[in-house]
Amino acid sequence: MSVPLLDLRAQYASLKDEFMREISEICESQHFILGPKVEKFEQEAAAYCHSKYATGVTSGSDALIIALMVEGIGAGDEVITTPFTFFATVGAIVRVGATPVFADIDPVTFNIDPSSLESKVTNRTRAIIPVHLFGQAADMDPVMEVARRHNLIVIEDACQAIGAEYKGRRVGSIGDYGAFSFFPSKNLGCFGDGGLVTCNDPEKARLLKIFRNHGQSSTYMHEYVGGNFRLDALQAAILSIKLPHLDSWSEARQANAAEYRELFAAAGLCDRIELPREAEKYPVRHIYNQFCIRVKNGRRDELLAKLRERGIGCAVYYPLSLHLQPCFRALGGKAGDFPVSEAASAEIMALPIYPESTSAMRKEVVDAIAEILK
Ligand SMILES: *Cc1c(COP(=O)(O)O)cnc(C)c1O
Repeated sequence: MSVPLLDLRAQYASLKDEFMREISEICESQHFILGPKVEKFEQEAAAYCHSKYATGVTSGSDALIIALMVEGIGAGDEVITTPFTFFATVGAIVRVGATPVFADIDPVTFNIDPSSLESKVTNRTRAIIPVHLFGQAADMDPVMEVARRHNLIVIEDACQAIGAEYKGRRVGSIGDYGAFSFFPSKNLGCFGDGGLVTCNDPEKARLLKIFRNHGQSSTYMHEYVGGNFRLDALQAAILSIKLPHLDSWSEARQANAAEYRELFAAAGLCDRIELPREAEKYPVRHIYNQFCIRVKNGRRDELLAKLRERGIGCAVYYPLSLHLQPCFRALGGKAGDFPVSEAASAEIMALPIYPESTSAMRKEVVDAIAEILK
């Protein structure tokens, strides 16, 4: 049996009639840009994320960029973040002209380790971007403490973590801004690219709406230079249809993760691989956007290749710590600078966890791993 890493067709089929009705209605209206569908989704998403305001934007990458732009962060400024994340987190910092400063990660959660944050702050530091990687919250209290002490903005990169919780609080509602992505592979995905910025401050929300529309405060009056960061009505309508199902999908991912734990334990594999762990220092709601194991004894690439040969989908998020990416060479990062991040990128591997994947698929995956690593 082949097992895909992700297959969205069943989810689509279950809601197809609703999608078609909304798409057809929007096409008849020919009202595609912003408007009531976008406003409706923004209200629903703000409520879901326990935030006062939500602004629909073009992507998760743009959600990060627009938050930095609203804060006027740019050339000469430093932003502290993790080297173990999707490229866009750091790309956004560089694209506004600021300088990323890395802090290593916690080996349990793969998220920024707050203990080194203070030592990274300089008189140029303006913001911290913690990432809630794979659907699990970063340790936000100490991040917020450092930020408050030094008057820094906190932008939560919650692109993989919509609905995840930190000590009972939803991610994206804790810092000054939360950035979300609706790329199709996220727990809540649209039919293309889409994103969202949450915040609790009415002035920040006002500026976000102005900046996403070329900085226009009223028609053709440009108070700022923003950009075209608008979410469109079709994507918003699709997201409104999907949002009521998000909790059941995330719960199915949690159940699948629990089943993997049982299967791996029963197979006696826990000496050769390390299963993903939930934070020990604080309570979380992990939404398992990814289920990432660590493969010990330098066998990750071998396991990856052999699983793929058998038709089992797997992937490496992320194979190169970002301080070692060629495009960031000028920052002076070298091997050994962030050992926890570098070790993670050498060992990590994601297995299929999507809600509609079956027990038989998980058994196939674990049996194959047991055979390959025996
Ligand atoms: C997906 C993702 C982004 C970017 O989102 P896009 O919608 O693809 O632009 C940013 N950060 C993280 C951690 C992500 O996983």
